[in-house]
Amino acid sequence: MSESTNVLTAVAWPYASGPRHIGHVAGFGVPSDVFSRYQRMAGNRVLMVSGTDEHGTPILVAADREGAPPREIADRYNRVIAEDLRALGLSYDLFTRTTTKNHYAVVQDLFLGLLRNGYVCPQTTLGAISPSTGRTLPDRYIEGTCPICGYDGARGDQCDNCGNQLDPTDLINPRSRINGETPKFVEEEHFFLDLPAFADALGSYLQSRTNWRPNVLKFSLNLLDDLRPRAISRDLDWGVPVPLDGWRDRPDKKLYVWFDAVVGYLSASVEWAARTGDPDAWRPFWQGGNAKAYYFMGKDNIVFHAEIWPAMLLGYSGQGARDGQPGPLGTLDLPWEVVSSEYLTMEGKKFSSSRSVVIYVRDFLARYDPDALRYYLAVAGPETQDTDFTWAEFLRRNNDELVAGWGNLVNRSVSMAARNVGAIPAATGLTDADAALLASSRAAFGTVGDLLGRSRQKAAIGAAMRVVAEANKYLSDQAPWKLRESAAAEDRDRMHTILHVALQVVDDAKTLLTPFLPHSSARVHGLLGGSGEWAALPRLEEIGAETAVGSPSYGVLTGDYDTGARWESVPLQVGRPLAPPTPVFRKSRCRSRSWTATATSTRWECPRRTTSGRRWRPRRRSVSAGSSRSVTRWPRRVGARRPRRRIRTSTPRWPYTRTR
Ligand SMILES: [Zn+2]
Repeated sequence: MSESTNVLTAVAWPYASGPRHIGHVAGFGVPSDVFSRYQRMAGNRVLMVSGTDEHGTPILVAADREGAPPREIADRYNRVIAEDLRALGLSYDLFTRTTTKNHYAVVQDLFLGLLRNGYVCPQTTLGAISPSTGRTLPDRYIEGTCPICGYDGARGDQCDNCGNQLDPTDLINPRSRINGETPKFVEEEHFFLDLPAFADALGSYLQSRTNWRPNVLKFSLNLLDDLRPRAISRDLDWGVPVPLDGWRDRPDKKLYVWFDAVVGYLSASVEWAARTGDPDAWRPFWQGGNAKAYYFMGKDNIVFHAEIWPAMLLGYSGQGARDGQPGPLGTLDLPWEVVSSEYLTMEGKKFSSSRSVVIYVRDFLARYDPDALRYYLAVAGPETQDTDFTWAEFLRRNNDELVAGWGNLVNRSVSMAARNVGAIPAATGLTDADAALLASSRAAFGTVGDLLGRSRQKAAIGAAMRVVAEANKYLSDQAPWKLRESAAAEDRDRMHTILHVALQVVDDAKTLLTPFLPHSSARVHGLLGGSGEWAALPRLEEIGAETAVGSPSYGVLTGDYDTGARWESVPLQVGRPLAPPTPVFRKSRCRSRSWTATATSTRWECPRRTTSGRRWRPRRRSVSAGSSRSVTRWPRRVGARRPRRRIRTSTPRWPYTRTR
């Protein structure tokens, strides 16, 4: 990119109803961070914001489950999630929460702006009351049969089986979850967002979005066929108050959680600006068409980001069918791109905390490096189609590609140069092979950068890893170790040249992989004698209770990410001292084949039985193979025929991994 652009990375807000699992970070977390890190390296100004979504039914259901007040649940999981995202290295400029005074103020401002311009109207609708007590029955306490999928345990606000949002009156055979009685429906007033008033404006907006992924654009355009007014207040006791006389203090009516959560992108930007000391610093990312705003989420959230949020922005800015005046914040820009991922499944099943098909992020990171997970999600994640996570594939990717491919290239080139030269050697007289490899590595900055700019991350990491493969092949072909013992000066010079070329390509590959693998790229930067910080990581900053609504102090994620690392090949400084490296990646052992999960944690088990029912011994031993590399043997089934030793097979099959 030639000139600097403002880039807003708006990342979906995880619910603070429990710890998040790896399927969640596959959809919103890692792709948005890869994107933001690349944009910063390309010289753009990036603002990456998100936070925990702390209102609505999921929090209340978790509160019921754990027997705690909703605020306590929100406080607890806000911290758990922020710590997980920090451990993954996600470079949020601000990761905050929806229970802050600032968020309440911005949400209420948006509501009032829409109301003034006539896009929010009161409508009479049917609400449920309990016949025995006469009190309002919140939606989540009504249960019945889903009219869409027929699931019998659907709640009055949504069906957990098919995921559709429902109204209590949609349910077949509605009943109270408290005492089983049939609720009585009475007329009551709620506020609705007049989506049909945005049909024309949304239509021309979406028609112009030719840069979107085709599946996202097609889905969004289809949504326009069925625009109906949508309720934005709800019978709930936990949420942002409706900022109107007669409503403000009512304990049973709040703004609906979806309305407050989508405003989070804007409120978090405003909060970030206030924290930087320049309260207007958010404006260049939101106004005047000076920025490109990219929204990252899973596909179940497309409707909110491609239809409802743009409608709210248009209405607040006075740009729907009824026109109007911009609200106090001014005219706001629409999303530049909605980048939606598909679903990650788990060994063939849908992730589900309630069905124990889940692996939580922190439990994963307790066992594996964050870059191992990041690599897997980048290379095998659900970018454009649903994708299945399997342990066998995770191990193969980690052991064969990260460890044996990239880690091995770093290790053998740096250790050989460190042992034989002690510094970055000089190159004298490049052969065609040398020049070809260097040219290919330099050209990758254009290819990979272009793919990253278009959020084609799978293709991008594939192209970066091709540079690694070419360099490994180059080293094997050139065999600098054969020249090590030679007394001839020209052989020594040739060895130095080969090592110089290899190290230069290692340095390039480190830069190309930095958006995906910030932790290990920073280590490679250090191994090559690079100075200064290379890939900055987020920090958890403690915030006093004064900015929260009723919570004690809490942590926000933030960081200073502009390290000066640039998206370009930088010539290595000849003579810079090198030390023998420590391995950059760890080979993974499959301790994790079996696990059970509760709503809040994963319990790992070393299985005594394989799925075929045969016993196997969870034992392994390491033997020296006459080199510094140790060989790990895998537990084998007792009574099974001893497997033939597999040498360099590309797909190790459980429970045997490759031995060398
Ligand atoms: Zn359903």
